[in-house]
Amino acid sequence: MSFEKLGLIKPLLSAISDLGYEHPTLIQKRAIPLVMAKSDIFATAQTGTGKTAAFGLPILQRLRKTEATQDRRVKAVILSPTRELSIQIFEDMQGYSKNMKVECAVLVGGKDIESQQKILKQGVDIIIATPGRFLEHVERNLDITSIEVLVLDEADRMLDMGFTKDIRKIHPLLPKKHQTLLFSATYSDKVRKLSKLVLRSPAFIETSKKNSTVDTINQVAYLVDTDRKAALLAYLIGSRNYPQVLVFTRTKASANELFAELKKDGLKCGIIHGDIQQAKRLKTLAEFKAMKVKVLVATDIASRGLDIEELPYVINYELPSVAEDYVHRVGRTGRAGREGEAISLIDIYEKFDIREIERVIGQKIPQDTVAGFEPDPTIRRKDVDEAKLKSEHKKPNQKKERQYNKNTSGLAKAKTTTKKRRTTKRDAK
Ligand code: AMP
Repeated sequence: MSFEKLGLIKPLLSAISDLGYEHPTLIQKRAIPLVMAKSDIFATAQTGTGKTAAFGLPILQRLRKTEATQDRRVKAVILSPTRELSIQIFEDMQGYSKNMKVECAVLVGGKDIESQQKILKQGVDIIIATPGRFLEHVERNLDITSIEVLVLDEADRMLDMGFTKDIRKIHPLLPKKHQTLLFSATYSDKVRKLSKLVLRSPAFIETSKKNSTVDTINQVAYLVDTDRKAALLAYLIGSRNYPQVLVFTRTKASANELFAELKKDGLKCGIIHGDIQQAKRLKTLAEFKAMKVKVLVATDIASRGLDIEELPYVINYELPSVAEDYVHRVGRTGRAGREGEAISLIDIYEKFDIREIERVIGQKIPQDTVAGFEPDPTIRRKDVDEAKLKSEHKKPNQKKERQYNKNTSGLAKAKTTTKKRRTTKRDAK
């Protein structure tokens, strides 16, 4: 199957050929004809599968704007959970539309709203935005009466980040007859509920097993004591000569701590998390892409949308508090069919979390140790004993407590099972 066979117009074919795309990916093969046929879509697609082009190319084709015309009202809006992802989509759309007369604008928080309004006044065909900022513009009288297509990209993530209210507000404001394309890496009840609200007789596209990780990624978990994780990380990076690594922490606090420790070790590293200003984040990202920074320490939310070509290694310094985030994290590597390696450094407490991740991805993650960094067996015994002791003294409302722990994504669990766990709050923007 070629892009020509999908019926894409010449300006798009030539643009993607310049980008080196030879054959459509699975999601592109399935989604492009459906989007062109104006069908609503519910697609579960993993990160790195080429989903931006899967919705971007047919949207551009639908607009068919190869001539600058008078109609400069907004015809498509692409909502994504983070600034970085929005900017990434914007850049991709610029690349795809380079031979067309299409104007795209990116509207994200952290940027001056008045200057965004000036750009909008000049006339824009496609808006790429985070939900909150898009709503702000709508409240400031952005004309959305011509919108034909709404894309909800990484919908699961938008819901996790608390954008449900904004999306619910935006949806009824759009013209009744618009087309909605919902993309989600994971398939949760929340996403299903949202799909019922926003989609009309959607076509379902499932390009992979639910929540499974990309096949080309080798996964391994190294058992290590909590206080030796930073040393093991530095050792792995140094001894294995990793050219570039993306390292995930669970919280902003531990990202800061790790960043400081790695710098002490003389490693060229960068850091991005929700408390760091966007301009600084983008600068760090650019330095990482340009290989000026070897190690990028990131939290889950800040890392969304990072599209770094051929990133071979992702290291989970701490497992994510939400098991589904594991899929997003390791999706940073092995993109578009390339091989990648995802390494998780797990301490005694995370041995429980990894089981939940294995359940979600439907596969076992091999566990191993690194010589010289084997976990202290006395710690292991003590904690297992503690866990056993706990289970022997079940409280009457334990079922409730388990549910609560599940809902609070590991934070409460960490608190109830151990005093030692270095975990604060779930990283929030
Ligand atoms: P995405 O899932 O949209 O973030 O895309 C992941 C990466 O795959 C990006 O670097 C895209 O530029 C690239 N990509 C998308 N479609 C193709 C294709 N058909 N052939 C080769 N690379 C692609």
